[in-house]
Amino acid sequence: PHVARLIAAGEVVSRPLDVVRELVENALDAGASRIDIEVDGGGLERVQVRDNGCGIPAESVPLAPARHATSKLTAAEPVGAGGLEVTTLGFRGEALWAAAQAGTLELMTRPAAQVGAARLYAQGDEVQVSRTSAPAGTTVTVSRLFAHLPARLRTQASAGAEVRDITALLGRYVLHHPGLHWRLTVDSDPRLTHAPADHRGAVATVYGPLSANRVLTLDTGTVRGVVSRPELTRARRDRMHFAVNGRPVTAPPELERAVIDAYAELLPAGTAPLCVLDLTVAPEDHDPNIHPAKQVVALADLPDVAARVRAAVAQALAGHPL
Ligand code: ADP
Ligand code: MG
Repeated sequence: PHVARLIAAGEVVSRPLDVVRELVENALDAGASRIDIEVDGGGLERVQVRDNGCGIPAESVPLAPARHATSKLTAAEPVGAGGLEVTTLGFRGEALWAAAQAGTLELMTRPAAQVGAARLYAQGDEVQVSRTSAPAGTTVTVSRLFAHLPARLRTQASAGAEVRDITALLGRYVLHHPGLHWRLTVDSDPRLTHAPADHRGAVATVYGPLSANRVLTLDTGTVRGVVSRPELTRARRDRMHFAVNGRPVTAPPELERAVIDAYAELLPAGTAPLCVLDLTVAPEDHDPNIHPAKQVVALADLPDVAARVRAAVAQALAGHPL
């Protein structure tokens, strides 16, 4: 059973980047306006994510690393004119559990209204909880990832490669959640800092001010973001970013195609624009669950979403004569 558990945990956390993603998504789900990420030793040594979100009430802390412990499905309530459900990024209750199985998990947390803070230490199924004091919010630290899983350790990328991927991932979160304070520190060196801004400001943070000056803003309600003026194109599609209901996703090729098609003859053949598009779809129309890493998304009505994207981009381009 121990081995089965480690294998299951390895599906959720197979590399440091997975820890970063899961902890950042928890911070976003907690409503944080400030998210600080520290990565040491390529993330195998230590990943820490600090947020100023809602915190975990002391009585719930011991359960946080239990498998399938999630506060999020029951917390969903109908809201808004459309009667849509609150959509959180997490809902499986496996991330903290997997982190504790694959490494060492430490958590300090305090809801703003609670007087003292709770501290939790978990490794495997061993859990210790104590009282402490801490600012409101949550700090989660995962250290010594795979230290007791030599086979898993051997297949890890170099620290440099992992840090590159983590930095790119964080860039995508900044692009899709530009209204927050973000900071990424790698081995004590600041890598990325972002103060609250709009999508254009996020493009400035991630790609620099020149790129930011060349994007057009669009907002149709369900398609929001920026697309570049046609002169800012590249042969690769590595600057096309999509998020569905707040989660950065690997876009189906149909969505990339929809953006490119909207440029029609404005786009030099074989090139792609920069775009950051946040798509809102009804929760029942999308399944974020087809892969544990959740970056692949299944959209129930992809042609319809693609048509909306294409129309929104075409409209932005038409409204801004070049
Ligand atoms: P999930 O996100 O799928 O619910 P996790 O294992 O990632 O599962 O987290 C377990 C639970 O711990 C969450 O449901 C939430 O209640 C709590 N939690 C984790 N991280 C945070 C955080 N940064 N702020 C507030 N609560 C958190
Ligand atoms: Mg989670």
